Amino acid sequence: MSDDWGKRTKLVHHGARRSQYGEVAEAIYLTQGFVYPDAEAAEARFLQSGADEFIYARYGNPTVAVFEERIAALEGTEDAFATASGMAAVSGALTAMLRAGDHVVSSRALFGSCLYVLEEVLTRYGVVVTFVDGTDLDQWRAALRPDTKAVFLETISNPTLEVIDLKSVAELAHGVGALVVVDNVFATPVFSRAVALGADVIIYSATKHIDGQGRALGGVICGTRDFIRKTVEPFMKHTGGALSPFNAWIMLNGLTTIDLRVRAQAASAQAIAQALDADPRLARVIYPGLENHPQHALARAQMDGFGTVLALDLKGGKEAAFRFLNALQVAVISNNLGDARSIVTHPATTTHQRLPDDLKQTLGITPGLIRLSVGLEDTADLIADLRRGLDMI
Ligand SMILES: *Cc1c(COP(=O)(O)O)cnc(C)c1O
Repeated sequence: MSDDWGKRTKLVHHGARRSQYGEVAEAIYLTQGFVYPDAEAAEARFLQSGADEFIYARYGNPTVAVFEERIAALEGTEDAFATASGMAAVSGALTAMLRAGDHVVSSRALFGSCLYVLEEVLTRYGVVVTFVDGTDLDQWRAALRPDTKAVFLETISNPTLEVIDLKSVAELAHGVGALVVVDNVFATPVFSRAVALGADVIIYSATKHIDGQGRALGGVICGTRDFIRKTVEPFMKHTGGALSPFNAWIMLNGLTTIDLRVRAQAASAQAIAQALDADPRLARVIYPGLENHPQHALARAQMDGFGTVLALDLKGGKEAAFRFLNALQVAVISNNLGDARSIVTHPATTTHQRLPDDLKQTLGITPGLIRLSVGLEDTADLIADLRRGLDMI
């Protein structure tokens, strides 16, 4: 059965249900609710709904359920809960599990909105958060306390692609009984070994590689059945961050090709990083697949691939960066990642604009830094495009 299937087979078929019409593609159940055959059935379903029994789309929906089962099978967790966006997943998972007085240790190098949730939102409700340099195990060790309920980290940080030693952080966290919550977008569900390394809760913005074509927002929280159904579901179903059935259908279609896409994009990222690594106009090319990356060995040990994003640090600061961006003809200037289109971003003036200058410096977000999310175009065209940009600075 399904459990013995390989990854690609699961990505195409796992969790599929067919209606009486026997449709080939998954049906989109665009309905807010469900009709009960009689009053007794309604009463029984509100008391306890069985498998494939639904009440209201904010609680669950057949199309969304297929997506949840398929992504859980891919990640290797018992269960998953789909959300309206990646941030609904991050804020939902953390808010569902924490209460006033709880302590959280988090890596400082976070996606801007994750940093906002930890620094500005959770603290408002009495959660105490300690930020550490995620790559420094001594800082994790020093920050963990007997009352630490969770640690939060991005396994590969955005945008400077530092790799955190998930296995060691998980061992330290489990030593004080804390749950390990991982925002795993950059590692991607294709390359993730997060469960084996000790992560308890794994979160994806499905907006990124899962859709992979820049169409829709979505997110997902993966974890044990107990955590998903007893902690996450009650919170999410009453607070409203449900994934729409239409977006679940888009994400299901994304999953059928994600393995092929992400592997092709990562191979292209590796080739681009190698082609540009020695370019004298660049202070640094940052990609975990390059041997000169400070955590290259760690990245190799904890992932099945090095990801689809790289960073270029241009000599000549913001002026050089803008000239470079404005000269590109293939890669587009935007801020998504994991898309089929290659996307270039200038973090210092866009995604990370809000950060104070000293924190930007600590995180390595220099004025010359460009983030490149590698798409599915021909690698040779991308290298030529990036060289055209470099020629303009
Ligand atoms: C994009 C992203 C998010 C947020 O996802 P949305 O779908 O945009 O809400 C969270 N974490 C990381 C690392 C991301 O890249």
